[in-house]
Amino acid sequence: MRIGHGYDAHRFEKGKPLALGGVSVPYEFGLLAHSDGDVVLHALCDALLGAIGRGDIGQHFPDTSDEYENVDSRLLLRHVFKLVEEAGFELGNIDISIIAQAPKLAAHLPSMSDCIASDLKCDVSQVNVKATTTEGMGFAGRKEGIEAHAVVLLTTAS
Ligand code: MG
Repeated sequence: MRIGHGYDAHRFEKGKPLALGGVSVPYEFGLLAHSDGDVVLHALCDALLGAIGRGDIGQHFPDTSDEYENVDSRLLLRHVFKLVEEAGFELGNIDISIIAQAPKLAAHLPSMSDCIASDLKCDVSQVNVKATTTEGMGFAGRKEGIEAHAVVLLTTAS
């Protein structure tokens, strides 16, 4: 078994769609980033890369590269998961925590699990996505941005 953890945070920016967990969430702000700013998928990519000992998302997709400007993070996730499979592992389970004071995310969490399960070709029961606020504390609490943690467990492919 291999375990990996990933963390990411991005600040809100006006005039950009909000992509979270591969899902488009209606809100007045998106997330400032070189890519689409999907903190959830970035944290997940880092957790997967961590579990196979392959560094982090910035090493694989440099934010200085035009190739990744406004890129759909689902493409990055699929690429990272290919590395996981090539390394001889399969997915055990994923647990994700999103920290956001706003927008309200509860209604969107099942779609995020569906989206991730479809990209990783696994059952939706292997992908848990949850969200919490910080009761107004810190940058997420001040609605300056969103952060996400991901933990993954991989097993040797059968
Ligand atoms: Mg990021």
